[in-house]
Amino acid sequence: MDEVQPGVPISRNLALRLITRPDADLPSLLAAARAAKERFKPGIITYSRKVFIPLTNLCRDYCGYCTFRRDPGDHGAHTMTPDEVLAVTRAGEKLGCTEALFSLGDKPELLFPEMRETLRRLGYRSTLHYLEAMCDLVLRETNLLPHPNPGLLSAEWISRLAAGCPSMGMMLESTNTDLLGPGKAHDNAPDKLPAKRLRTIEEAGKQGVPFTTGLLIGIGESPQDRVDTLLAIRDLHERYGHIQEVIVQNFRVKPTIPMADWPEPSHDEMLRTVAVARLLLPNVNIQAPPNLSAPYYDDLMDAGVNDWGGISPLTPDFINPERPWPHLEQLRLRTEAKGFQLQQRLPVYPEFIPALLSKPGLLAERLRNCTAEDGLARRAA
Ligand code: SF4
Repeated sequence: MDEVQPGVPISRNLALRLITRPDADLPSLLAAARAAKERFKPGIITYSRKVFIPLTNLCRDYCGYCTFRRDPGDHGAHTMTPDEVLAVTRAGEKLGCTEALFSLGDKPELLFPEMRETLRRLGYRSTLHYLEAMCDLVLRETNLLPHPNPGLLSAEWISRLAAGCPSMGMMLESTNTDLLGPGKAHDNAPDKLPAKRLRTIEEAGKQGVPFTTGLLIGIGESPQDRVDTLLAIRDLHERYGHIQEVIVQNFRVKPTIPMADWPEPSHDEMLRTVAVARLLLPNVNIQAPPNLSAPYYDDLMDAGVNDWGGISPLTPDFINPERPWPHLEQLRLRTEAKGFQLQQRLPVYPEFIPALLSKPGLLAERLRNCTAEDGLARRAA
């Protein structure tokens, strides 16, 4: 640990050694990561109070770990109507939510005539056109800020969505192309090609769009792949300065998925990956979803997270529906027990807000209304 210098990103070589070190050395790695977090964002852990809007769960990809996606006609297959979107968002508004997280499958209309028919009935040419309209609806009609997660995006679509959304996201997941091989996690998931995902993240950087990304661990990648995925994200952030948050998400097994027999990454493996992420990216927000590490999620604070991600007081986690979010009061108590204050942020992090406020238009107006002086959400946590 002597090679770790305060505020200085560690090298690939050191990251590789730290991510594979023996379990007995974990406490010193965690201590270094927690110290790095405290230098970056002292005394607080943030979260975004959100509603989850699963705009459509139809998807043209078939990721081996996914419980969200459906084919048309499957039980639970659904594309939300504008009225449903507004109803959920307004209910969230009453509960102090400031983020409308749009999650959806990637380009389902390319595979399914049923989706093309649904879009025709709704009056839109593609899922992205519909998403754009729903983000605009939320921005116009409510106090929530839309944050879309629609998968791969062209330069044009990043620009169109950024006009009404302060930030957007897409998990890089892994730079390992072997995961697209037969029987692997990304077999039959053409949108998970790492080069395509890196291109989307790079384009967001060129346009200065605050971007959330991250890695998914335990889907067949090696510890070295995790380091290389983090380095690919770091490289883009060094060039464009737009990565607002890196999520470290752990694979959780579910009985209904193609990967139902895969082993989950251990808790220690998760902590080690979070800690190495913190040391590789000492000045970037690092998040890990607490519901995927419950009941031991407070250990993640020892590994250097400074954010719990989106927590909904209203809607279930549609991506991991069997793992409810910890109640906000419980989250606050556990956070405070570790010596941190829990604070509510907006979907866009404070350091990216001044640039957005300098642009004219409704987005800046809405953002100004819900931002406190410190750049966090105006409403107290
Ligand atoms: S993880 Fe995303 S891209 Fe993959 S199948 Fe599920 S919804 Fe589709």
